[in-house]
Amino acid sequence: MIMRMSKTFIKTLREAPKEETATNGALLTRAGFIHKEMAGVYDYLPFGMRVINNIEDIVRDELNKIGCEEMQFTALQNPELWEKTGRWSDQEVDIWFKTEVSSGGMVGLAPTHEEPITNMMKEYISSYKDLPLAIYQFQTKFRNEKRAKSGIMRGREFLMKDLYSFHTSQEDLDKFYDKVFQAYINVYERLGLGDVTFPCFASGGIFSKFSHEFQTLLPVGEDTIYYTKNKAIVLNKEVVIPEVLKEFGIKKSDLIEDTAAEVGNIFKLSTKFSLPLDLKYTDENNERREIYMGCYGIGISRLVGVLAEYFSDDKGLYWPEAVAPYKYYLIGIDDKGAKAAEKLYKGHEELMIMDDRDLRPGEKFADADLIGIPYRVIVSDKTLEKDSVEITDRKTGKSKLVSLKDFKKSCK
Ligand code: ATP
Ligand code: MG
Repeated sequence: MIMRMSKTFIKTLREAPKEETATNGALLTRAGFIHKEMAGVYDYLPFGMRVINNIEDIVRDELNKIGCEEMQFTALQNPELWEKTGRWSDQEVDIWFKTEVSSGGMVGLAPTHEEPITNMMKEYISSYKDLPLAIYQFQTKFRNEKRAKSGIMRGREFLMKDLYSFHTSQEDLDKFYDKVFQAYINVYERLGLGDVTFPCFASGGIFSKFSHEFQTLLPVGEDTIYYTKNKAIVLNKEVVIPEVLKEFGIKKSDLIEDTAAEVGNIFKLSTKFSLPLDLKYTDENNERREIYMGCYGIGISRLVGVLAEYFSDDKGLYWPEAVAPYKYYLIGIDDKGAKAAEKLYKGHEELMIMDDRDLRPGEKFADADLIGIPYRVIVSDKTLEKDSVEITDRKTGKSKLVSLKDFKKSCK
């Protein structure tokens, strides 16, 4: 995508709208990544889309490596299906958006997708030869959340990666669960959040004792977690009860309390959905057996918010290279610099933004800092005298001269 600052519709803002109290919402709005429609509902502008695409690519890569298949479900949900699991009722699930169909009846906007995928698989799984299977999507979810005050970290409409797996036995599910666990570790590492994101024991429902959440330490996170000093054991507040502490051989006084944002969640469902929706397979002896399932979520749009909270300072954002919308922010100063910048830009439109606006350099520098592209590249009379460009690392603020030749090489 061609990104000339003179042509894009995106405008950076000096100040964030007053109601945008969360840092991520304020900074992402000011820097032109998102646009707010109403509480908890945001549009993603070109920069924001590119960050989302980069996160999705990393997640996709890790999931494909462990044999998962990507597809896309509809957001519209058939009440009949959800009645079978008891989850259509507002008493049971209190965040539904429900709406009427013009020809009669109701549909719901999907808050999650266990029911439709379990039901769909009845048409695709018949024997043990069809298993195991793991299917995922990146999709917009709708939840009528009571609170929506954390910027894009808690939306009423948000993007989730959800993966569902199907197995002939609990053991096979356990094995796959461990693979997803590792894939998630890899994802957060690649996103630049590895040092601050921890698997955390959370309540597991009926069939397994615990589920795992992936929690990123963050002062503005909504979750309270407890961990041992070396963070080998991390527990969600909800499971810090006497019997669990005993199981881990720790005392409450050994634990440190902290706040975090849940960026992912993996869950052994076992037969919780396959039983009520009657999803079975035929085994080697021609007997019908229950299918064991797992479900695994990653909050893609929440991650954009978490990254913005984490990688920001008083000047704005500083994206890790793996997720940044572009690698270079190119500024040509004066006529000669501008001409040289045009030449450098040509053919490298995927890699850099060119700030060719008719503005003072200082204003461009301020926007470069706000938008948070990892490297600012300046071409001017002064750098050209030395056949060079000046590259400044957004995170450290350190600058160095790099020869034009070497810079061009790094753009290959
Ligand atoms: P939370 O406890 O934060 O409400 P959850 O446990 O209901 O989340 P899941 O149903 O497991 O969430 O969804 C998978 C992932 O989707 C979560 O780990 C989180 O990262 C993300 N997520 C959940 N709700 C929201 C939301 N309202 N806005 C943005 N992301 C969300
Ligand atoms: Mg949760």
